[in-house]
Amino acid sequence: MHPPELKQLTATQKIRRMPFPSEVVLPLRQHAGKPARLLASRGDHVERGDLLAAADGFMSVPIHASASGRIAELGWWPHPDGSMAEAVRITVDRFSAQLPRPRMVPHWEGLSKEQVVNAVQQAGIVGLGGAAFPAHVKLLPPKDAKIELLLLNGAECEPYLTTDHRLMAEQPERVIYGARIMMHALGVTRCVIGIERNKPDAIEAIRGALPSDADITVQPLTVKYPQGAEKMLIKALTGREVPSGKLPLNVGVIVQNVGTVATIGEVFETGLPLVERVVTITGPGVRKPSNLLMPIGTRLRDALDACGGLTADVSEIIFGGPMMGGAVSDLDTPIIKGITGVVALTPDVARTEPTLPCIRCGRCLDSCPVFLNPSQLGLLAQAGRYEEMEALHLADCMLCGSCSYVCPSNIPLSQMFALGKAGLRKQKVKAAAEAAAAVLKVGAA
Ligand code: SF4
Ligand code: SF4
Repeated sequence: MHPPELKQLTATQKIRRMPFPSEVVLPLRQHAGKPARLLASRGDHVERGDLLAAADGFMSVPIHASASGRIAELGWWPHPDGSMAEAVRITVDRFSAQLPRPRMVPHWEGLSKEQVVNAVQQAGIVGLGGAAFPAHVKLLPPKDAKIELLLLNGAECEPYLTTDHRLMAEQPERVIYGARIMMHALGVTRCVIGIERNKPDAIEAIRGALPSDADITVQPLTVKYPQGAEKMLIKALTGREVPSGKLPLNVGVIVQNVGTVATIGEVFETGLPLVERVVTITGPGVRKPSNLLMPIGTRLRDALDACGGLTADVSEIIFGGPMMGGAVSDLDTPIIKGITGVVALTPDVARTEPTLPCIRCGRCLDSCPVFLNPSQLGLLAQAGRYEEMEALHLADCMLCGSCSYVCPSNIPLSQMFALGKAGLRKQKVKAAAEAAAAVLKVGAA
């Protein structure tokens, strides 16, 4: 698909660091997997980079203080996914220089694979492209998986967003440094960086930083949506197709977002864990669209203030891009690790028409990159028949939003599929709990 790119608002805007806000809010749930385990207490003084909550198991990462200050509150706070989440609120010390404590930075070449994986986990790194999947998990594939290629995802195909674009154009050495560390940890000798052709300055910058002693190359990609989806990227760069229900590692590939890779590089440069990220704040509803480097946990209202605030006619604000992102209802919601951008829309560009019945036009089928039947899945989702959706390969849906975008009846298909996936997860957890209770009952008898 070719939705309008709309990146011109920020494509040439250099990354700028926003002033530290008066407070930051850090939810314990910022990644796929188990939320972090709280260690901090109310009233504690923390320095930037201090540990607030520890990883709770392998599928979890810690949370660190993103600014120096005092812990004002441990409580429930609006989460970007629309729910409430347990969070740590820090009142930022406005007289602090915000310098982190001095840290030991181990040289990655002297570390074993397990030590690199552990360092990446302890730094709290997750996929910064939106999925927030713990980065260290991808560095430790199952022993029987034969990984021979690392793909870096610099496609950034979502309209409006320019976070990865600017990062590649301005910090290409850091991307390459992170790629070397990942190649070392994975034991692979080849890395390909895929970048859409609409970012010529990023392609040029990365090409200029390529090392002569490692097999790292750049591959320009056709501009289309959803080119940046893992399975699409693998097909475009290698010709390999990831089978239904399988993972990239099943075809010998690990994919990582360029922003995540740059952060891995930064951790081994400075020792500072993931406490800040670049976020594109854009759209016709923002006065001064920008690419901002901000502390994780910055409240949406503070980020918008740093961009001159909203225009009077703003009608909708989205976290992420307009294809995959979700609308926000509370300006106090914090910007967490996986948020790539904020798009403020005005009535002339926001989609406000009512939802109409399906007219069976088939456009959603034509648009689906993984050949699902969104129309049929939508009917099942409306009826809450999640198990039947599973049988129709709901797991393969990557929530790309293409079907919703083309639907002339304005049916929010991908949003319904997200709810379907969540409903299925809940059903499975409930079934597992009931089975465990039944086993305990038999044992007690
Ligand atoms: S959201 Fe899912 S069903 Fe819809 S087009 Fe994308 S992959 Fe296909
Ligand atoms: S695009 Fe919309 S109206 Fe057309 S078949 Fe799909 S769900 Fe129905």
